[in-house]
Amino acid sequence: MPMTLPPLPYPSNALEPHIDSQTMEIHHGKHHNAYVTNGNKALEGTAFAEKDPVDIIKNLAALPDDKRGPARNNVGGHVNHSMFWTLMAAPGKGGGGAPTGALAGAINAAFGSFDAFKEKFAAAAAGRFGSGWVWLVVNGGKVEIVSTANQDNPLMGKAIAGCEGTPVLGLDVWEHAYYLKYQNRRPDYVGAWWNVVNWSKAAELFAGATK
Ligand code: MN
Repeated sequence: MPMTLPPLPYPSNALEPHIDSQTMEIHHGKHHNAYVTNGNKALEGTAFAEKDPVDIIKNLAALPDDKRGPARNNVGGHVNHSMFWTLMAAPGKGGGGAPTGALAGAINAAFGSFDAFKEKFAAAAAGRFGSGWVWLVVNGGKVEIVSTANQDNPLMGKAIAGCEGTPVLGLDVWEHAYYLKYQNRRPDYVGAWWNVVNWSKAAELFAGATK
């Protein structure tokens, strides 16, 4: 089946005041939609058009040379954004707070504390030059913070994405994710984003990545 744009799991104003409604509408309805449309166009008429987008980005080497670049950018963009929407929730209604259970244990083991983790994650977000993502991944049974350029995903593997692992949390640091409200103040966007992180979704992804 061709890729389809998944609906946002909440109204576009649900993440206010941290992420504004107009940003969500454009980000989802225009940017994510363009990745879906262009990804489908790139894969049309190939066997890959019917494949699971996650399987496609895990094995980009299998694609014909002329499809690899478009798939990396657009199927990557689709996978990244599909995950991103589910990793947020309305503040105080599933969004914000702190991780619990096994994920909290893994974060504390790797970084010392939740605050130390947030500091390191924010530094990775600030340090990503240009467009990209910051991730918390499970790699070799441990959690790590990594960052990728453009629409690369750690699932693409080290040779392509420069890092590896299974994402359990991801933050879009493209300007389109924050410019309307925060302009050039990426650190303010990252600081506000903690108020809408859906830690139960991250815990679910962590359980899947460690079982
Ligand atoms: Mn984006």
